[in-house]
Amino acid sequence: MEVPKIKLPNTKLFINNEWVDPVVPKTFKAISPITEQVICEISEGDAADVDKAVKVARDCFDNVWTNYTGEERGRLLYKLADLIDEEKEYIAQLESLDNGKPIKDSFGYDVFSSSQTLRYYAGWADKVQGKQIPLGEGFTSYTRHEPIGVVGFITPWNFPLMILAWKFGPAIAAGCTIVAKPSEETSLTALYFAELVKKAGFPPGVFNLICGYGVTVGNAISGHMGIDKVSFTGSTRTGKTIMASAAQSNLKKVTLELGGKSPNIIFEDADLEFAAIGAKAAMYFNMGQSCIAGSRLFVQESIYDKFLEIFTAKVKELKLGNPYDKSTEQGSLASKIHFDRVMSYINKGKEEGATIHLGGGRYGDKGYFVEPTIFTNVKDSMTICKEEIFGPVICILPFKNVDEVLKRANDTEYGLAAGVFTKDINLALQVGNKLKAGSVWINQYNMVNIQAPFGGYKQSGIGKDLGEYAIIDYCAIKTVAVSHRTFQAHTHPK
Ligand code: NAD
Repeated sequence: MEVPKIKLPNTKLFINNEWVDPVVPKTFKAISPITEQVICEISEGDAADVDKAVKVARDCFDNVWTNYTGEERGRLLYKLADLIDEEKEYIAQLESLDNGKPIKDSFGYDVFSSSQTLRYYAGWADKVQGKQIPLGEGFTSYTRHEPIGVVGFITPWNFPLMILAWKFGPAIAAGCTIVAKPSEETSLTALYFAELVKKAGFPPGVFNLICGYGVTVGNAISGHMGIDKVSFTGSTRTGKTIMASAAQSNLKKVTLELGGKSPNIIFEDADLEFAAIGAKAAMYFNMGQSCIAGSRLFVQESIYDKFLEIFTAKVKELKLGNPYDKSTEQGSLASKIHFDRVMSYINKGKEEGATIHLGGGRYGDKGYFVEPTIFTNVKDSMTICKEEIFGPVICILPFKNVDEVLKRANDTEYGLAAGVFTKDINLALQVGNKLKAGSVWINQYNMVNIQAPFGGYKQSGIGKDLGEYAIIDYCAIKTVAVSHRTFQAHTHPK
């Protein structure tokens, strides 16, 4: 498969706005999942590099960044968003090369959403404010939303640039400095982002990027005594490790955006064509490598056969192929490790007795492409129906009535997102209110909006990304109480 030859970003560590070698020089390989070829070598950081970055970030936080007003931080965010937009085609190409996703999505979704997120938080930067709390005559009390300090980001490979922007925006709006680690599978757009941070005029030390592995760099961030908060997006298993490490070190605050096994429910009165389009996007967007993927598709028994026919026809239309072809809708999975994981889940589904209704195989013989796959005859207890596959694999499950589907939809350790398709607004709202998920979409799916909070219930996470809600997680809230009564000490009532 042909991929364009593009210039590569600087691949060293980015500390204090300088490109530096690791304390112990070593590298790891960036491999394109489209060609299986090595793209380049990237400097591999370790705990000593995280240490250097934290010192710089702390110094900047205490002595430089604290003097910037919200308005000034907002201007820098606007500038960075503009720089991303100026180079959106290049950044999209880089993302597709590293991650395998269709260029149409890298361009129209990942890069677009990244600059939009930065602009959204640029607007918030001078509006981070506390409240006045009435304590009675003679007293004034108010809260200050102070920046929490130095924050660590640990991010995944499915939306590499976008999730970095989701964290960068609110952290900068709040006034924090940052030490970030991208996924070792997809570091290239984060490296280019660092170049743009410098070009936008952010002072040295505000943003520092240490590429490398989770067990070394990631672990050093989550356990560092000098980091005040860690914001993580990734698997539930890693999230638990990070939370334990955060607790055992300095009890740093955590925001965890974790996995999902989201239910999408199609009731018999839904517009079936429309619901099938929604269900297809819910599952196959980003080749199913989406934490919100609607991977458990519940279909009411009375319309099951008809819906399956419509849905299958729509999934068959998905165009797989070279991600650089602008009409491609399904690219490759992000890495060999992940390809093997998804294929082993497909085999497990077959072994446990589910039926492959569509797909189930590799596409082509080069690159990590998997056919969009539909499983029928699935039992709720099967591995493919319980565990997050994070690939283009859906389980279709018939149901009889509302009570049954609610019980089954909520019977999962996850709680990230859920969908409901029906024309009955009462039913939609009643079911929506009872679904245990951080986001519920009615007659829609994948409606992750920058303005609205995003984050899971149960083992799908802690805290929120996006919206105004994300900013408070980067703040330390202080209560200030002033007595302006004369000649009287305040005493508590006996
Ligand atoms: P992952 O947990 O394997 O890795 C995520 C990041 O954590 C990577 O940067 C990795 O290097 C790092 N890491 C790994 N082990 C670590 C450790 N011991 N200490 C510190 N850091 C460590 O996840 P992934 O495979 O990159 O991403 C897929 C997962 O992310 C899926 O489960 C998906 O649902 C989840 N995800 C969630 C959201 C959300 O917003 N809820 C969004 C995207 C992805």
